[in-house]
Amino acid sequence: MVRIVGILVLVASFSIAQTLTFGVLEYKGKEKVRKQYQPLADYIAAQLHTKVTLEILSSEELERQVRLKKIDIVATNPTHFISLRKHGELTGAIATEVKSYNGIMTSYLGGVIFTRSDRSDIRTLSDIRFRTIAFPGKKFLGGYQVQNYELSKVGVHLPEDAVLLPVKTHGAVVERVLAKKADIGFVRTGTIEELILEHKLKRSDISILNEQKFSNFPWMVSTNIYPEWAVATRIDLNDSLIKEIAAAIYTYVPKNKEEGRIEGFTIPADYTVVDELARELHIPPYENAPDVTLHDIWEQYNNTIYISFSLSAVFFVLIAWLYRRNSYEKVYARSILDASPNPTVVTNGEFLISANKAMLTFLGYATLEAFKQEHRCVCDFFEEGDMDEYLQPKMDDKTWINYILAHPEYEHKAKMTIEGKTTIFKIDVSEVGETNQFRAIAVFTDISLLLNQLRTDPLTHLYNRLHFDLLFEHAMHIANRDHSSLSVIFFDIDHFKQVNDIFGHLAGDEVLRQIAKLVKGMLRQSDIVARWGGEEFIILLPNTGVTSATQVAENLRMRIEQEYFHGVGKITCSFGVTTLHEKESADSILSRVDELLYNAKGKGRNQTVVG
Ligand code: GH3
Ligand code: MG
Ligand code: MG
Repeated sequence: MVRIVGILVLVASFSIAQTLTFGVLEYKGKEKVRKQYQPLADYIAAQLHTKVTLEILSSEELERQVRLKKIDIVATNPTHFISLRKHGELTGAIATEVKSYNGIMTSYLGGVIFTRSDRSDIRTLSDIRFRTIAFPGKKFLGGYQVQNYELSKVGVHLPEDAVLLPVKTHGAVVERVLAKKADIGFVRTGTIEELILEHKLKRSDISILNEQKFSNFPWMVSTNIYPEWAVATRIDLNDSLIKEIAAAIYTYVPKNKEEGRIEGFTIPADYTVVDELARELHIPPYENAPDVTLHDIWEQYNNTIYISFSLSAVFFVLIAWLYRRNSYEKVYARSILDASPNPTVVTNGEFLISANKAMLTFLGYATLEAFKQEHRCVCDFFEEGDMDEYLQPKMDDKTWINYILAHPEYEHKAKMTIEGKTTIFKIDVSEVGETNQFRAIAVFTDISLLLNQLRTDPLTHLYNRLHFDLLFEHAMHIANRDHSSLSVIFFDIDHFKQVNDIFGHLAGDEVLRQIAKLVKGMLRQSDIVARWGGEEFIILLPNTGVTSATQVAENLRMRIEQEYFHGVGKITCSFGVTTLHEKESADSILSRVDELLYNAKGKGRNQTVVG
């Protein structure tokens, strides 16, 4: 308890004598946006004892001001946010907006695709082809991009396949459709309900296309749903100031609640799903460069992890503080937790006390009681990985929660598979116990997408060299510890340059994909195959001596020789095979196997050389 109060006092004790500029994207009329964000700006100002100037700016202007470092706090839509971040002036998201409608809180948004209800000729997404579409603008995530992504999945490609009519605001979209100036309208979720409340639209005037249902999502929606607006700050603000801003944002409770408006803010959602959409649609920051380097991803990943790690501590303290108050705040804390996209649990170290909606949905249970009838702990679902990289229910004689608390210096990850789908979470834990009771809150952040991008080669979907190095190090450690054997196969496609020269690079790429699939299919589960570089592949065979490894290489060589490669024909590969000697380094075994492969090439290719 002392600790909680201590941190709160700490959080409240910094005072800054500077003026902060809060930039917000003008996604509808300037005055409407100002009306929503002014109370938040005033609240931050009051909490931090500083002046906060609110600027409502177009996406271009916001981008310019961010680059000039004139914006200290920014709130914008998710795609605009990832694009704003590309030059590195902003932190990762420090908070995600929560909205509410009909008493349901959510931190997701989506897109609506609608037409007038008398248009019986427009019923499905494919009917949209060659129609006129009114939409606010191409930079709007919920007003264009998510609809575009959804349509591309059914083969309708924008802008070619329709007539696009950008009309600046969501309100104007509805007006154009009702006035028969456009056949179809795109607006973000919540717009339709808001206009109905303002008596500017009747539900019976329009029909929604491709209507989707998501649990705990309160609005009509035609697309998948994505994290809500993000709040970030200038990266070079002082760390304690960033935390102070985050603390103010988390505790903000709007006084005059209006349906569909900001309801509050929660810990940042995982914006990598938005990254994925941006990459697919080639929109900023991926308009020209679809291939992000590993280095870029690392940078982004570390930045996000760093920020969310330090912020989750602030968030926990505030939630714990809200929980202790009796009235409205307690319910509010509960709802904010439920609105969070991050699965979250409260435990006493042994078994589960409470779980938010995101956790129950992830685990596939309707209620906490239903889960508790079958399990005591979420850790029942923790799995092992290829290395010792994932949390287990008990570690060093401690429960997983106590292990995390004892090792704040590590990044803790858990692997869980539900209904065949594997998810990797980063877990942050904080103690929130009352006097004598131990209570800890654990927030799970899905980093599967990010890890997958980090570990795999985008062309072949095999492990990349970066991840191979880690796996190799671990395999060597196990082999040395257990005195078990470990063999390595290194192979390279013969005369691959000619394949590219004759059939083109695309055909060459297809050969690489086909070989990867073929090889992977012929190996055991415990073998590890990676793309070493260009047209070179490496295979690790744990518990395998040189004779068996040679047999594996020969089988692969003969199988590849027989394969017909689409658009290219026959291909061969040369192989080097060796096994780990006692007390040998990784570099030594790798240079030996490279030498053996080189010898196979020298002897005329399409053969295996063992050493
Ligand atoms: P060798 O039999 O001696 O191995 O001859 P080679 O032509 O296969 O070897 P070389 O190292 O001269 O050329 C390798 C070629 O592989 C050159 C490069 O264009 C091609 N390559 C590397 N990575 C890729 C890729 O991702 N896609 C395609 N299509 N080609 C690639
Ligand atoms: Mg080659
Ligand atoms: Mg080569």
